[in-house]
Formats: sequence, structure tokens, C-alpha cells
Amino acid sequence: MNAEGKPSNALVGKITAIHGPMFSGKTEELLRRVRRAKIGRKKVQLFKPAIDNRYHATQVLPHFLANASDESVQVGEAARAIAQAREILPLVDADTDIVAIEEAQFLDDALFDVIRKLSRMGKDIMLSLLDQDYRRLPFPIAHSKRTVGDYLAIAHESLKLAAICVVCGADAHHSQKLTLHSISPEGKPSYRPASFHSEVVTVGTSQEIAQVKLFAERNPEFPQNIYEARCRNCHVVPDEP
Ligand SMILES: [Zn+2]
Repeated sequence: MNAEGKPSNALVGKITAIHGPMFSGKTEELLRRVRRAKIGRKKVQLFKPAIDNRYHATQVLPHFLANASDESVQVGEAARAIAQAREILPLVDADTDIVAIEEAQFLDDALFDVIRKLSRMGKDIMLSLLDQDYRRLPFPIAHSKRTVGDYLAIAHESLKLAAICVVCGADAHHSQKLTLHSISPEGKPSYRPASFHSEVVTVGTSQEIAQVKLFAERNPEFPQNIYEARCRNCHVVPDEP
């Protein structure tokens, strides 16, 4: 806007959010769009969150992160790993048309302002986002009051993807968290749906959770938590208030 309140001629970049549960192909779709843009001779810069120990304290699991972080490499698109959202702005070249960010829910809440700034600079922004946590709540941005919902709200276009429910085959919009419960004499692990409270419990506040963690530590060959996609009818969250 100029002083008279009329729009200036400068173009404002479009914000696109591609979101859904785990295993819904969000990053694939983001990278498909990146490849199309490159064919169209657009300059694209791709970013992804660097995986470090800070994230282990949040709802995010190392198991999932380890898998997700290599996805862009597998399809041949090099993503720049960043630890903090504010690293993005100085890295964006003047002639870049599109800034694409994988797994943007794992970056800190400064990303919100970075996105808005890039848009005002005329850059298009494309995000892939896990939209819900394992409790079907908006995915929280670590150490802040923001959720992924804030990014969806400022997007000009959003695409909600579904995975396939591993139980019944219906469209799956939720990520089911399963916690290691027992191991049979034959060495087969058994997993059960994780409690609503499983990640907010701190050491000593729940004997049962502490025992589960201890059990997992004694059986390091099996991950303590695993995830799968489930539909709204098959998704289970024990102890949900
Ligand atoms: Zn189902």
C-alpha cells in the first residue's frame, strides 16, 4: 500500500500449504511442484529443518525424523538444512522466485514472520506441513503458542492430503502413535495406542509411563514409539479427556 492506501504495483508472493498426516505424500507433492517450477524456469530454493536434540523434547519422534529428513535427497532435490527459521531470509537470493520448505512444522515460530516477509518481497512460498499431532490436535510449534493452523490461516492456497488407513483402507487424516508394550518369547514386539498424556508426562509423574520407557530402553532393537496412518474411525487415543 502507498500513503493513499492504494495497492502498490509490487507483487506479493503466494503462500501455499500442503498438509496432512504422516505418510500422505506431503513432501512428494511439494517436490513435484518444485520440479514443475524448475521446468518453468523458475528459480527455487528448498529448505528443511536440521534435526537436532531440541526436537526430541517436543512431540516429535527421532524415529520419524530420521526417515523424513532424507526424503528430498531420495528424489534428487537438494534441500538446505537450517536449525532456525531466521536463517532463511539471508540465504534467499534476490532472483529466487519460490522458497519451498519441507516439514515446516518442525521449525520455530519465527517462521511465521519469515513467510510473511518473503511474501511481501514477492517470493512465492510453498510449505509441507504435518497438520495434526497424534492426538488429532493442531500440530504445536515447539516453545510457542503457535500451531500449524497459523500457517494454514495465512496461506492463499492449501491442499489437504490423505494417507491410507492401515486398518481399514479408508482415507486417513490422522497419525496413530503406538508405544512398545511387550515382546513375545519369540521376540515379536507388541505395540499399543499411546495415551493422550504420553508426551506431556515428565519423569516421576507417571509410574506406568516410566516403566514403558524403561522397558524400551532395555530393548533397544525396537523403537519405543512407531506411527501409522489411520482414518477417523480407526484412530485411537486412550485417556482422551
Ligand atoms: Zn480405518
